[in-house]
Amino acid sequence: MDKQAAIARVEELHRLLNQYNYEYYVLDKPSVPDAEYDRLMQELIALEAEYPELKTKDSPSQRVGGQALDAFAKVEHRTPMLSLANAFNEGDLRDFDRRVRQEVGDVKYVCELKIDGLAVSLRYEDGYFVQGATRGDGLIGEDITENLKTIRSLPLRLKENVTVEVRGEAFMPKKSFEILNQQRSERGEELFANPRNAAAGSLRQLDPKVAASRNLDLFVYGLANAEELGIDSHSKALDYLHELGFKTNPERRVCANIDEVIQFVTSWHEKRAQLPYEIDGIVIKVDSFKQQEQLGATAKSPRWAIAYKFPAEEVVTKLIDIELSVGRTGVVTPTAILEPVRIAGTTVQRASLHNEDFIREKDIRIGDYVVVKKAGDIIPEVVNVLPERRTGEEEPFKMPAHCPECQSELVRLDEEVALRCINPKCPAQIREGLIHFVSRNAMNIEGLGEKVIAQLFKEGLVQDVADLYTLTKEQLMNLERMGEKSATNLLNAIEASKENSLERLLFGLGIRHVGAKAAKILAQQFETMERLSQATKEELLAIHEIGEKMADSIIAYFSKPEVTDLINELRSYGVNMTYKGPKAVSNADTDSYFAGKTIVLTGKLEKLSRNEAKEKIEQLGGKVTGSVSKNTDLVIAGADAGSKLTKAQQLNIEIWDEARFLQEIER
Ligand code: NAD
Repeated sequence: MDKQAAIARVEELHRLLNQYNYEYYVLDKPSVPDAEYDRLMQELIALEAEYPELKTKDSPSQRVGGQALDAFAKVEHRTPMLSLANAFNEGDLRDFDRRVRQEVGDVKYVCELKIDGLAVSLRYEDGYFVQGATRGDGLIGEDITENLKTIRSLPLRLKENVTVEVRGEAFMPKKSFEILNQQRSERGEELFANPRNAAAGSLRQLDPKVAASRNLDLFVYGLANAEELGIDSHSKALDYLHELGFKTNPERRVCANIDEVIQFVTSWHEKRAQLPYEIDGIVIKVDSFKQQEQLGATAKSPRWAIAYKFPAEEVVTKLIDIELSVGRTGVVTPTAILEPVRIAGTTVQRASLHNEDFIREKDIRIGDYVVVKKAGDIIPEVVNVLPERRTGEEEPFKMPAHCPECQSELVRLDEEVALRCINPKCPAQIREGLIHFVSRNAMNIEGLGEKVIAQLFKEGLVQDVADLYTLTKEQLMNLERMGEKSATNLLNAIEASKENSLERLLFGLGIRHVGAKAAKILAQQFETMERLSQATKEELLAIHEIGEKMADSIIAYFSKPEVTDLINELRSYGVNMTYKGPKAVSNADTDSYFAGKTIVLTGKLEKLSRNEAKEKIEQLGGKVTGSVSKNTDLVIAGADAGSKLTKAQQLNIEIWDEARFLQEIER
């Protein structure tokens, strides 16, 4: 990059980083993932290294975090609260180790989890908690003593009458975060982006009652005046803090060299998901205080510590196009085509955009920079756009009026957000319907992948699902890349599918609103296709799990003459039409207290196992679900019930103990 371009880019980076800092530290509402912030910061640091004259005093690279708010009293930190330099890979960690050893020779390191919360400083005088503050800009923070007192794990009195200044991380456990956001969404309030911002937002509330309701927690990880107390290493300081009554994180390790550090770091990549709180990396510190002192600090961060950041699960990339696909039910779904980008170890090129409303609400345009998220093995999703990166060339997107596959007019049914193609002959729908029919939870025909189906359809060999049962070996062997062996295997798989129990066929037919679970219930209740096809609405509605919408859809489906033809055809090929599984538990007692109610079991029950209790409730016509929401009617709480009970109390849901429950079922 030449100097002129560098000047412009540095300016742009200042603008963006200042905006992101403000959103993150002052508003507790970031618009970009940390990884993007880190990437821009690294870019700025690299440019400043190349052109030192561009490194100004007010550069975001020279500042520690946030600034104090006006509403709280200011606190000057006796020892500055610094930030940490970052490492993003093994190479960065080895560089850090090399620099450290060049300066001080052999070292031991302490590895700690990097809790994703906010740093706080706590002052104790003669063993009493007297003041707590946020980090602020590192020199001056905010006095949040009253809010911190609401954290139950924070000791108000230590086990020894010492005067100490300790540092720690206040955070919100994952569960509390989920509950908080669910409550906020029920009240129509804006959601917190992540537990860190929720914790920060809670601790900076002027009313401590709000903080008290948020279930915050605290790990202590540093003793600012350790040497005054005759302690000579960080690991000993942590042990001492624990003895004083602080909650320190047990997952720490003293490592003899950088290889051990790297091993510790790697082992947490996967294990982190199991923790009840979020961590965004591992902090590595030189253990000996004497060596720490020798190494010193820059204005921003100590030279004796580094924060390794885990690979991101949210990143920024460019949206280059929006593609449309037509599903089995005719729904037209827009998909974002992205500039390829790595997220949590895999390359992502497409992300779901759900529907037109989603695109409009987020104002997503072709050419935009967008935040893309991938959690676990869920399909990547566009989270938001970055309007500050627009150049003016971006194009707003409009859904077409016609089906991209068969050109018939698209419609919006009832109050759906989705646009649908309602042409029953639409090739895309038929193809997708075939793919669904053979899928694992439906007829489970192995060897019939999307490509083979597309070919069969294109060659005119298969027009509907019944045609699958007419295929011959010769026909199959004419397909691309289909040898004799695969053709035989495929024919065997098709043949075997004729023996499936009824629910697989029912699900495979793709009746609207009938998922795999409903198909099972219907098959269990009606036992044959014939009886189901003649069921009245009343009969269907008498089944607890079947609602109005599904009942209507089933009746409408079986009233179509083409459906009767299709079923007759399938029957003539020998496809089984009866239920082969265990019989339904009959006659749910509709007079029972539980009939029609949604019930959650939590905690340990003494007289019954969870499963026995569940069965009982179901026999009495109730439904047992796993999580408490506003749709829950009753929570049955055994011993040591945890967050579900708390949530039920918050939502004012009726709660019974085991005795009350037994009394009711024995009636
Ligand atoms: P940092 O990543 O530089 O790390 C320092 C912090 O780590 C400490 O202040 C402390 O709070 C925490 N920490 C957790 N466990 C610790 C332990 N065991 N020992 C020591 N410290 C521990 O954090 P920072 O300086 O607070 O913030 C910079 C980071 O914040 C950036 O790297 C970026 O990821 C994020 N950020 C994001 C945005 C955004 O818009 N998304 C904006 C600004 C900053």
